[in-house]
Amino acid sequence: MGSATERPSHPPPRQFPVLDDCLQLGGVLLTRLAERVGRTPFYAYERDHVRSRIDLLRRTLPQGVQLHYAIKANPMPALVCLMAPLVDGFDVASAGEMKIALDAGMAPSAISFAGPGKSNAELRSAVAAGVLLHLESEEEMKRAAATGALLGLTPRVAVRVNPDFELKYAGMKMAGGAHQFGIDAERVPAMLRQLGRLGLDFHGFHLFCGAQNLSATAIGEAQRLCVDLALRLAEHAPSPIRTLNIGGGLGVPYFPGERPLDFPAVADGLHAVLDTLNAAAPGARLVLELGRYLVAEAGVYVCRVLERKLSHGQTFLITDGGMHHHLAASGNFGQVIRKNYPVAIGNRMYGGPRETATVVGPLCTPLDMLADGMELTRAEVGDFVVVFQSGAYGLTASPTAFLGHPGPAEVLV
Ligand SMILES: *Cc1c(COP(=O)(O)O)cnc(C)c1O
Repeated sequence: MGSATERPSHPPPRQFPVLDDCLQLGGVLLTRLAERVGRTPFYAYERDHVRSRIDLLRRTLPQGVQLHYAIKANPMPALVCLMAPLVDGFDVASAGEMKIALDAGMAPSAISFAGPGKSNAELRSAVAAGVLLHLESEEEMKRAAATGALLGLTPRVAVRVNPDFELKYAGMKMAGGAHQFGIDAERVPAMLRQLGRLGLDFHGFHLFCGAQNLSATAIGEAQRLCVDLALRLAEHAPSPIRTLNIGGGLGVPYFPGERPLDFPAVADGLHAVLDTLNAAAPGARLVLELGRYLVAEAGVYVCRVLERKLSHGQTFLITDGGMHHHLAASGNFGQVIRKNYPVAIGNRMYGGPRETATVVGPLCTPLDMLADGMELTRAEVGDFVVVFQSGAYGLTASPTAFLGHPGPAEVLV
């Protein structure tokens, strides 16, 4: 172990094991892993963490709640393959994601396809595959019906509802008020009448209120309201509902002062929600579709210090990684006030003198910053900068083409 007993002032919310002052990922020392990968920067995702997170949810959730993975959080094919047997379904938002889901061996009937602006080609592939379409507009309903007629198949559909309430404390609101997602609740009854006439195979509703919520109380309240609204709307449906997808939105802590979500409290709330649903719509499946909550804490982004630089008394660590690989950590993926993700010097986890440094990347923009004036162990050239909580909305949510640098590697360990 290193000599100093001091711990980082901003510890990673999830502590990875440390050996001889060096972080271990999936049981491998970071320095050794970097040798194996052969280059930096890279993303590494831990299999065991994903498995144990899903296992914990399974043990905590009421029987009968179906767990789906929203692939957009992290579509790495190897990771999606790992998850396929562990979850009950995948949610996709493009033909590309649908292909990853099908390639991973997920049954088409357990895949749902949401998102506004599905192209006719996407509708054709989804209907042909037998994937459940989450209709986002009346227009899309008509295009789905036309696609079914063209292919001689009956499209399986659910209606995504834009509810008439908002989710409190969500990091990113996606419902309530004017939105591009779903059909305004008050227009759904008329749409359902049309849906019956068009001969579509109606499965139920999809409601997703917002992402990155750390309040179990707010999530529970939204889930209750979602089920109540869905059951009211179900009275107008051409057939009984068979599935009710109440979204995800469960948050993970990223910033100082944020506390992990009280998941057992969320699970408790779901018992009541499930009872309500079972009483009013026997046999209907309740689906929770989670992205971030399943994978964010399983992943790190690792880059290397290329240079130390002083400017007007401030220390900059110039690295080979940055915002082009990890937009979210740079603060430019929906943050209003920039805050530092948990960052550490991965080969000097606890030992050595400390300093305040700003970690930047190679891009010619001041936005390219991974940590701003953060207290870190003093780093030398060649050291590893690790950004924690990086398993979701990392690589594929980043502008990799900007400035033409090579992309990072991705490994599952
Ligand atoms: C993005 C998205 C999710 C996943 O959101 P998380 O915050 O990662 O859990 C779930 N459902 C839909 C429809 C989405 O668009």
